[in-house]
Amino acid sequence: MTIFGFRFNMTIKENILRLKAGLPEEVELVAVSKTCSAESILQAYQAGQRIFGESRPQEMRAKYGELPKDIRWHMIGHLQTNKVKYIAPFVNLIHSVDSAKLFEAIDIHAVKNARTIDVLLEVCIAEEETKHGWQEDHLIAWLDTGIYREATGVRIRGLMGIATNTDDREKTREEFSGLARLYLWLKEEYFGPDFDTLSMGMTSDYNIAVECGANMVRIGSMIFGERNYGKQ
Ligand SMILES: *Cc1c(COP(=O)(O)O)cnc(C)c1O
Repeated sequence: MTIFGFRFNMTIKENILRLKAGLPEEVELVAVSKTCSAESILQAYQAGQRIFGESRPQEMRAKYGELPKDIRWHMIGHLQTNKVKYIAPFVNLIHSVDSAKLFEAIDIHAVKNARTIDVLLEVCIAEEETKHGWQEDHLIAWLDTGIYREATGVRIRGLMGIATNTDDREKTREEFSGLARLYLWLKEEYFGPDFDTLSMGMTSDYNIAVECGANMVRIGSMIFGERNYGKQ
């Protein structure tokens, strides 16, 4: 077990270094560590990785408690308003703001913690209805209300999207290009220079995402191996 663990962990370091070497300099790597042990995260940390993505608030809070304090924790999974409190004191970026209600909850908890929390708006670009995220027209209607400008605890930094899970690379490319167009348009029309983050691409499709303009990719299994949801 230890011997296997050791060999497995050596691979994590190598995976990080290889992945980083292949990414353009301006693309930020979020190492998606959901379900991974603290030891695995430390191996990635020792390879220089500082941004880690989690999808469960309580799991993220526990890992925050036991790992180095210069780690920047990103919430990438669907977030319920009643769980914002677990991560509000320390979270570095929330990728998954998919409703006005969640935005408002984050604002309240940020103010309570005397912080400004950076967020991305998650846009639904995949065809599966199970995926979370704003529909484009709903998002624009909400932005037009101007409510987001009154929030003192939240800063909108960009967009996040998850493409359809498919082998059809042209379809993936279309979805990512569409999100990139929306990102550039919103930056121009609504936000300006602080709106600077386009989070798209995971293990299976990050190359296409980067070609389409992603400057943040979220990669899990290519670094840590297949996830074992069973042992949670
Ligand atoms: C799990 C997850 C990822 C990482 O997926 P991999 O295929 O393991 O790279 C990226 N983004 C989100 C939103 C996820 O939930």
